[in-house]
Amino acid sequence: MAYDNDNIFAKIMRDEIPSHRVYEDDAAIAFMDVMPQGMGHTLVVPKVPSRNLLDADPSIFDGVMRVVQKVAKAAKEAFDADGVAIMQFNEAASGQSVFHLHFHVIPRFEGIPLKP
Ligand code: ADP
Repeated sequence: MAYDNDNIFAKIMRDEIPSHRVYEDDAAIAFMDVMPQGMGHTLVVPKVPSRNLLDADPSIFDGVMRVVQKVAKAAKEAFDADGVAIMQFNEAASGQSVFHLHFHVIPRFEGIPLKP
C-alpha cells in the first residue's frame, strides 16, 4: 500500500512537529509516546520510509532491531522495570493508526497491566 509522506512520524523526523527524542542513529529515531500505555513507553521509528513491516525492505531490519534492543535495555534500566514488551501493528485492522513503520517499547512491571 502507498506511503503517505505527511504521516505524523514523517513530520516528527523532519522536525516539523516536536517530540521528546531519546535516541537517534543512521537507522532510526526513538522518542517518547505522547499517549503512553505505561511508564517509559517509547517508539522506535526507522528512517527509511515504510508503511509498516509488511511493506518494509528487509535490508533495514538489522539496523532497526539494534535500536529496538538498545532502547529496550535502556528503558528497562531507566525505569527499573521487570521486563519490556515490544509491540508492532500492521494495518488498521491490527491496531495501526500511524502509517510509518514503528515499534512500541514498553517497560513492564510485575502485577501492573497496560493502560487500554
Ligand atoms: P495505536 O495508536 O493503536 O497504538 P500505532 O501502533 O500506529 O497504533 O501507534 C501509534 C502511536 O503513536 C500511539 O501509541 C500514539 O500514542 C503515538 N503517537 C501519536 N502521535 C504522536 C506524537 N505526536 N508523538 C509521539 N507519539 C505519538
